[in-house]
Amino acid sequence: MTTPHDSVSADAVLETSFANLGLSEALLRALADEGYATPTPIQSKAIPHVLAGRDLFGCAQTGTGKTAAFALPLIDRLRETPRKPEPRRCRVLVLAPTRELAAQIHQSFLAYGRHSGLRAAVIYGGVGQQPQARAMQHGVDVLVATPGRLLDLVSQRLVDIRSVEFLVLDEADRMLDMGFIHDVRKIVGQLPRDRQTLFFSATLPAEVRDLADSMLRSPLEVRTAPRSTPAETVTQSVMFVAKREKKALLVKLLREEATGRVIVFARTKHGADKLHRDLEKAGIDAAAIHGNKSQAQREKALAAFKSPQPPVLVATDIAARGIDVDDVAHVVNYELPHEPETYVHRIGRTGRAGQTGAAVSFCDAEERPRLVAIERLLKRSIPARNEPSEGHHADEPEASRPRERSGVPRENSSRRTRGRGRPGRGGRDSGRSEGRERAAAAPATAVAAPPQPAKPARRKHRRAL
Ligand code: AMP
Repeated sequence: MTTPHDSVSADAVLETSFANLGLSEALLRALADEGYATPTPIQSKAIPHVLAGRDLFGCAQTGTGKTAAFALPLIDRLRETPRKPEPRRCRVLVLAPTRELAAQIHQSFLAYGRHSGLRAAVIYGGVGQQPQARAMQHGVDVLVATPGRLLDLVSQRLVDIRSVEFLVLDEADRMLDMGFIHDVRKIVGQLPRDRQTLFFSATLPAEVRDLADSMLRSPLEVRTAPRSTPAETVTQSVMFVAKREKKALLVKLLREEATGRVIVFARTKHGADKLHRDLEKAGIDAAAIHGNKSQAQREKALAAFKSPQPPVLVATDIAARGIDVDDVAHVVNYELPHEPETYVHRIGRTGRAGQTGAAVSFCDAEERPRLVAIERLLKRSIPARNEPSEGHHADEPEASRPRERSGVPRENSSRRTRGRGRPGRGGRDSGRSEGRERAAAAPATAVAAPPQPAKPARRKHRRAL
């Protein structure tokens, strides 16, 4: 890529305060409203340079605070040269790969810009275009968009991107994964060359570097912890289990231990649907989110997941990208992913914003090579543990227990089940105790012994959750 003048690891930055970063008073007030006390490392490092007008190449995962790292200084950049937006135009264009991520970034701009008179719009596919075209009619300061729908609206002359002053490309690697690279290049080709560009990617495959090269001018490069390093706040463990026993083990885990917000990862859409049905059959309130779901279905599932009595969310990898919920207590890998980096990304859904979290992976005989690949990437082994009923003893260290989450009080966090004679989802909002009792212990499920004796140490009592 264009040789950066500087390359810094964001993690090496000393703690500072938002007030020292040069942000306006309107933004400082909005940050106080949000309850942000101190900037995250990527924010400390990036914000002063973006304010100074520099291009940025950020290698950062979600959960690091990267949205604020670009949104905050851009809002102040807009304020430096206040002007009324022109019809159908925007001054800041943010490209994001998924609707969920686009919607979240839009929400973040609205929240941070609430005292700055900011106008923002979001456009993505899968919903009618009329409201989006209307939102752009008089122009906005900030437009957040997925590439396909943006090109659609541009070709219909409902959006005009020829006067964009600031471009943000978020999750560039996911754009590549999802086949949007051609659309992205087409969009960038229509933008003014004289602009400030901020480019973010969680991983750096060669194509991402090429794309960055073609878009950035002498960028500052900021890196957060590489993807092979999951947050220290996530406690990882693996459970060896025969494929046919996985469902029963999951039900047991959810009933007895994994309370609070839980995301269960399945590899395929079909698998996610099946698991969703199986959990509901077992009386566990669940919701599924994957690429075949309509926008309305996804929004409904996410809203339920953010509620005080969340269903278990069964998700595929692509759908889970962009789920921005801070207090996810547990991630369960029902199936191990083929790509070790995906494991790191999945477990990054928990242990966010400084909170603790637990990630449990089910591993059957066929999946052993995937586990080996993950451990190689992590450069450490993942401790094995037993099924829940064997799991937690009084003498266990405190750090190994599932924790009470700040956003989901313990009394609300017990798994809602729908046993015989119980109302179905009726207990969600009413606080009626009959709908939310903790389930009686499930019949013990035999967990298969490790299918291969290759790693006997795994069966020792090194419980991690
Ligand atoms: P992001 O990496 O942009 O997806 O942000 C992850 C989460 O961290 C979001 O829910 C933000 O609201 C939250 N967040 C971002 N910056 C801060 C901060 N400085 N202090 C506390 N929370 C933050």
